[in-house]
Amino acid sequence: MELKCVSCGTMDLDPRTLLFSLILTDVLMVFCLLVAVHGQLGKRDGMEKWAAAIFLEMLVLVVADLRGIFPASIAIVFAHGLKAASYAMILAALHEFQCRKVQLWHYFAPVAATLVMAFMLVESTRGRYFWGSLIFIFQLSLIVRVLLSDQDARSGRAWRLIFAAIAVMMMVLALRAVAALAGLGEFAQITNGVALHPVQLLAFIAIMATSLLGSIGFILMVKERVDQKNMHLAMTDCLTQIPNRRALMERAGQAMAGRSGSPLALLMIDVDHFKRINDTHGHPVGDEVLRQVVERLLGRLRGCDLLGRYGGEEFCVLAPDTDLNGALNLAESLRESIVFTPFITEKGAIPVSVSIGLAICPLNTRRELKDILIEADSALYTAKQAGRNKVVAFECGIE
Ligand code: GH3
Ligand code: MG
Ligand code: MG
Repeated sequence: MELKCVSCGTMDLDPRTLLFSLILTDVLMVFCLLVAVHGQLGKRDGMEKWAAAIFLEMLVLVVADLRGIFPASIAIVFAHGLKAASYAMILAALHEFQCRKVQLWHYFAPVAATLVMAFMLVESTRGRYFWGSLIFIFQLSLIVRVLLSDQDARSGRAWRLIFAAIAVMMMVLALRAVAALAGLGEFAQITNGVALHPVQLLAFIAIMATSLLGSIGFILMVKERVDQKNMHLAMTDCLTQIPNRRALMERAGQAMAGRSGSPLALLMIDVDHFKRINDTHGHPVGDEVLRQVVERLLGRLRGCDLLGRYGGEEFCVLAPDTDLNGALNLAESLRESIVFTPFITEKGAIPVSVSIGLAICPLNTRRELKDILIEADSALYTAKQAGRNKVVAFECGIE
């Protein structure tokens, strides 16, 4: 068959060469996705389903390329069904990524509708392109709805790539529907030897966009989530689920740097004679006591206060906009929350108390975090020396 090309600027674009490059792109993309899945990156995160979607997309292109070999009607119905199945797979991949269950008709109804439509309109290129585009747009709107509902992923850059890819595809499908309605039929055939129609060229670009931008976006989105999980693990104390020392120091440093002159208080809280609790009741009970200490402390703190585990049985509270009086009241309230009611554990009720040392970064004063920590620690030492179960403010911090 003689192939004719269309001149696009300085380029001569041959439809079958474009088709071949799209198939090759899809094959390579599927390969990359499978490599990523194999590396455990996307296990149960929808990556396999996304790879299956691109594979189905690739089969659509292969069927289109081999039209002369199969009877045209079979190729048409088959290609349409594969295309709808490919979009259904993208939807399934996003659902799996979000750990969501959906109504199965979201997958199967559009595929069934597409097959019936292609079968009934096998003789009408215009009809197929119009109704086919509408069904595919409906499928893509389901995908957009799922994308928009993912508040976590929306803050990442990868999400925008996927959204852009789907948006490009939707716009081109809408254009195809309008062109078909307007009676333009010649753009519909990719390999019929006629010159490449601009609408067809846009369709190639849209397919490339979903394959490349969408797939790279999806891999990145999975990676962003893995990174977030790792970051959370690195910053959270696994026993009490509050920020660990690293996170505490980082956020305290930020709070000190970002403060606009308002006072700030730092409280060091240490469980009294905790070693005895471990020695008498065992470590698991000690662990339970630490968890309950955190619960009680959190129950008395404001939303803006930051509680972190400084180490062992020592905790630290960073209280913004808090002067010396406020800090003393807060510390007293925390101490009472621990000492007034014994802790209920599997080994019975255990009385627990804490000692608290506090230091202040006064109004309109610049202080280094390490200096405040040293002062709070020194006040805590004084509280221990004074018999424990006490609140002590660092002297020089009181002005
Ligand atoms: P003080 O009143 O002077 O603070 O005495 P203390 O016994 O509380 O202090 P000490 O430093 O002698 O002992 C702290 C104990 O805390 C020792 C350590 O085994 C225990 N500990 C540290 N982290 C954990 C933990 O995660 N779980 C349990 N169960 N024990 C812990
Ligand atoms: Mg202690
Ligand atoms: Mg201690």
